[in-house]
Amino acid sequence: MDAQRVLADADDRPPALCPRCGYDLVGEVMRWQGACPLDGRCSECGLELRWAEVLDREQRHPAWSYEGHGGAGRLVWTVCRGAVPCGLWRRGREGRYLGMGHAVDRQRLWVVLTVGVVLGLGVGAGALGWVRVSTGGWRSGVVAALGLAYGGMGTVLTMAAGLIFGESLARVRVRWEHFWRCATYSVIPGGLLGAVGAVVSHEGAQASADAWVLAGLGVAPTGMALWWWRAMADYVRVERPLPTAAAMVVVGYLAAFTAAFVTALRVG
Ligand SMILES: [Zn+2]
Repeated sequence: MDAQRVLADADDRPPALCPRCGYDLVGEVMRWQGACPLDGRCSECGLELRWAEVLDREQRHPAWSYEGHGGAGRLVWTVCRGAVPCGLWRRGREGRYLGMGHAVDRQRLWVVLTVGVVLGLGVGAGALGWVRVSTGGWRSGVVAALGLAYGGMGTVLTMAAGLIFGESLARVRVRWEHFWRCATYSVIPGGLLGAVGAVVSHEGAQASADAWVLAGLGVAPTGMALWWWRAMADYVRVERPLPTAAAMVVVGYLAAFTAAFVTALRVG
């Protein structure tokens, strides 16, 4: 083998990148002697990792993943899974669930985002229609529309809160593509929960049952806190997943509630 070839091979050596922060851990790997450990820790961000997920650069997406394989059937199934907190990721089972080692496909994430938004709007329109049929009044339609706007804005503002208050995310140097992957999938539960909450609130308002109005307002934040908690714990694997998720959701939905409340005062 000539020297040129040897040099070329050295350049082709695959980097051993930390799946969370992207730090090249090849120095760590070079220190191995005799045996290869199964588990390790990223010296940059502290992620506890299994070396298999670092060294296997072509990690295959799970068979159901639309992002990994495309196809309309997988898109439907991926969206269904995205609606529940543990549907997409589960810690330690990256072979069957999405993990940070699976390459992000931006184009397919845009498709998921579009489907999530359309689904949310569709369910929201259905909820509004149902409210209108059940009461026949324009005013209650306004209440339900504000409830839906609260759900939708809450979803988006929770993402924004993740950017602004995501101290835990910054501390562990999460690559942005991981955050955007989570944010994109979060649109799916966000829209559905907003519609459910709007109907519950509306029914409570019709019956003058304040507790039900409050419960309706709580549906979306509670569901979204659960969803983001599991994303932080199982996917991004931050140290304090629940406080991080709770902070994002509280800030996001409080801002959304304030905006909806101010609008309601102006309208009514
Ligand atoms: Zn790292």
